[in-house]
Amino acid sequence: MRLILLGAPGAGKGTQSKEITKRYGIPQISTGDILRAAIASGSELGTKVKEIVESGRLVPDDLVIALVDERLKQPDCRQGFLLDGFPRTVAQAEALHQLTDIDFVIDIDVPDAEIIERLTGRRMHMPSGRIYHIKYQPPKVPGVDDVTGEPLIQRPDDSEETVRKRLSVYHEQTRPLRDFYSHYKTRSNEKAPQYVKLNGTSSPGNISDTIFSLLDQARKSHS
Ligand code: AMP
Repeated sequence: MRLILLGAPGAGKGTQSKEITKRYGIPQISTGDILRAAIASGSELGTKVKEIVESGRLVPDDLVIALVDERLKQPDCRQGFLLDGFPRTVAQAEALHQLTDIDFVIDIDVPDAEIIERLTGRRMHMPSGRIYHIKYQPPKVPGVDDVTGEPLIQRPDDSEETVRKRLSVYHEQTRPLRDFYSHYKTRSNEKAPQYVKLNGTSSPGNISDTIFSLLDQARKSHS
């Protein structure tokens, strides 16, 4: 089960990833999480990308492609994996398909106005990646993680100005992947990924149910 979750920032990729990885036991590979961890650790990579990530622009293709290449070689990816936030450009997608076949591309579609509201209200517990929303999914105590009692933060790139920048980057560079995957051109011996577009404005539970029935079906017809 080799999956890609596509969609604008804030479309719900992270939330759905957690559900999918729990159900199917495959690792989630989030390039955003990897880059944020590198920034938090102060590594050479982190120092290099900090300013780019915090301004809402994209990190250079060769850098993220190398990260993903390295990650896909780990033994836990043998039974499959879920890519969240990668590929984000056509060049990344081309490079990815040189590395591996992909079975499904699930595209979560949410209008811009809703994305802005979701992201600017989003709060995060950094160590666990747990996500809240000040209006739609508030923590029991404002500003504090329900499980650990530790403080929640607003990601520096979730400020309104940066969210607008990230959305324009999405429209220019990532959205073309819709066309890329809905008219996918296979190379020799390659299996074309199945592209599915979902309405991302329904409840997270409904979206997970739709994804599960699709993937369960595929698994059944495979076994
Ligand atoms: P995310 O958590 O997926 O929204 O990613 C946060 C930020 O990390 C993005 O705004 C980019 O600056 C950077 N980033 C994550 N994934 C990629 C990628 N595939 N290509 C380039 N930059 C990325």
